[in-house]
Amino acid sequence: MSRLTKAQREQVRQMFGGRCAYCGEPLPDRWHADHREAVVRALLTKQSEDGRYKLVSGPSLYPERDVLENFMPSCPPCNISKHSMSLEVWRKWLAGHVNSLNAYHPIYRLAKKYGLIQETCAQVTFYFERVAQVVESAV
Ligand SMILES: [Zn+2]
Repeated sequence: MSRLTKAQREQVRQMFGGRCAYCGEPLPDRWHADHREAVVRALLTKQSEDGRYKLVSGPSLYPERDVLENFMPSCPPCNISKHSMSLEVWRKWLAGHVNSLNAYHPIYRLAKKYGLIQETCAQVTFYFERVAQVVESAV
C-alpha cells in the first residue's frame, strides 16, 4: 500500500476527530499519515550519470506494516520527531528533553529559577492513549 486512496486518507484523518494522534493538536492542511510502526526503508547507493553516488530510498524492511490499520494521523512536527522510532522509544526520547534542557540550556535553567517554567515529571501520554482512557472510564 505505498499510497493511500483519497477515501483511506480521509478515514485516517478522522481517526481522532481531525486531531494528531500523538499531541492532540488539530491537524493542519498538510498533515502526515504516519506509520505507527515504522516501515523503515533501506538506503541504497545509486550512481548518477555524472559518476557521483547518492543515497536513495529503497524498499521497506517491514512491508507487512504498510497497511491501513498501521496508519495514524499526525501533525508534521510529531511525525518528523518520531521518524522511525517505536512509540516506546519515542516516548523515552521525548521524556528525556527535560534532562537535555537542564543540562545544555542556561536560558531554560534561568527561566526555571524565576518560576517561569515548572517541571511536572508527567509521563508522556499520547493523545490516542488519553482518548482511549476517556472511553474506558465512560464504560
Ligand atoms: Zn502532533
